[in-house]
Amino acid sequence: MTKKTVLITGGARGIGRGIAESFLQADYNVMIADLDSGGPWRYQLSNETELADTSSELASLGTIHYVPVDVTQDDSCKACVKATIEAFGGLDVLVNNAGIVDSGVIDEFTEDRWDRIFEVNVKGIFLMTRAAVSELRRSSDAAIVNTASIAGKRGAPRMAAYCGSKFAVVGITQSFALELASDGIRVNAICPGMVGTAMWHDHLMSNTGNNEFESRMSQIIPLGRSQTVQDMGEAALYLANARNVSGVALNIAGGYEMH
Ligand code: NAD
Repeated sequence: MTKKTVLITGGARGIGRGIAESFLQADYNVMIADLDSGGPWRYQLSNETELADTSSELASLGTIHYVPVDVTQDDSCKACVKATIEAFGGLDVLVNNAGIVDSGVIDEFTEDRWDRIFEVNVKGIFLMTRAAVSELRRSSDAAIVNTASIAGKRGAPRMAAYCGSKFAVVGITQSFALELASDGIRVNAICPGMVGTAMWHDHLMSNTGNNEFESRMSQIIPLGRSQTVQDMGEAALYLANARNVSGVALNIAGGYEMH
């Protein structure tokens, strides 16, 4: 059997990096894609140096390459898919994981911040999927895994833009699942709970350290701990390989969200 190939956006760090590790351990060819420069946002995003470093650090686990991408730009999405095909000869799994968070009361939330959240978290999935779908159709075992969130299952104060964008990801996942089923492409989403990445440590709980994050999460999460990037990798790998599962938005949240 030929090795399968996965393309993971937002793969330089955090959950995307955890997903890359799981697919490498399952002997996939892995392409990680992320921004070439951190760009202006409410906290530092990733950049090409971190992307290259992640690729070298994970190389001991298997075959991995990297490519810069901005998922909000159509040309960049197309170039990212082209680079994947050039590197590995095909594409079997697309993981739309790139995303950003923001929070704030409605009176002070600017239009620019609202638009950027939707550009990255929602339009980014559309553009990447459109760029990749003809290659996925050529695979005999194709799947798409979108990173939604438990914020796509339940609203939260000061989180309207982020929650709205993640509800959209769940709707897009269901719609693509139905549209692409006849092509044999399964489309599912993971809904992470609380994972201690840059989103939490550099923005949502920026004044607190890892210990305080873990202590707060262990009090509110039924299974008693925050989620890890490995938990997310395990779930994404399961959904990529579940032959008769499509349209699911799977909570990985230690029982915190059950809807
Ligand atoms: P993170 O900030 O470490 O990772 C997000 C990655 O996306 C970064 O590397 C960033 O550079 C990249 N990115 C941002 N804009 C991009 C763009 N325009 N093009 C390409 N890449 C871009 O945070 P994370 O927690 O690992 O987030 C990964 C995904 O998980 C996101 O979709 C996020 O919404 C989702 N999520 C996270 C949590 C959590 O608790 N951390 C919970 C639920 C959902």
